[in-house]
Order: sequence, then structure tokens, then C-alpha cells
Amino acid sequence: MAKKVVRSRKKSPAQKKVALERISELFRQAEATHNEDQGLADRYVSLARKISLRYKVPFSKEQKARFCKNCNSYLVPGKNSRSRITKSRLVTQCLKCKAYRRVIYK
Ligand SMILES: [Zn+2]
Repeated sequence: MAKKVVRSRKKSPAQKKVALERISELFRQAEATHNEDQGLADRYVSLARKISLRYKVPFSKEQKARFCKNCNSYLVPGKNSRSRITKSRLVTQCLKCKAYRRVIYK
């Protein structure tokens, strides 16, 4: 008789805590390296996004503003992203893939 294997998809709070720490560490690394190697910073972002998906941990508001959802670029204002305030909305544009991100801004 075949045994039914049930794999839990739920992640324990301890795992989520580790995931959160790894994400903020990856963002710290991206912040430290983007000047020398933008490609490496982008790689850190895509790793952080993978962790976020796998462990279902959300990014903080600050973290969300620092990467492009479309091409996984680590965004540095004035370098590869442009921010404009229009009608109480903060519009951030990624200069690599031209994708926009809008947030309500008060
Ligand atoms: Zn982009």
C-alpha cells in the first residue's frame, strides 16, 4: 500500500523570522554593492524576492520602494530610478525597463 505523503506548506514562525532577516541582509548587501556592481545588487534583489515568495513574508514599505517589480533591479534614486510627485501620488520609474510604480503619497 502506497503511503500518502503529506508535505506541509505552512511555514513556522521561526522560519519566517529567519527569512525576514535574510531579506534585510540581502538589501543591506545590495545597498553596499550597487556602486561597484549593479548586477550583483540586482541579483541580491531577486534572491530576496524568491525568499519572500517561498516563505510568504512581505517586504517592508522601504524595501518595496528600492527595487523594480518588473526587472528585479535594485533602484537607486537619481541613478537608475526617477521619482515624481503628481496629484498626491509618488511615481517611481525604473530607468532600466521603464516600468512605473505608483504609491499614494500624503
Ligand atoms: Zn525595471
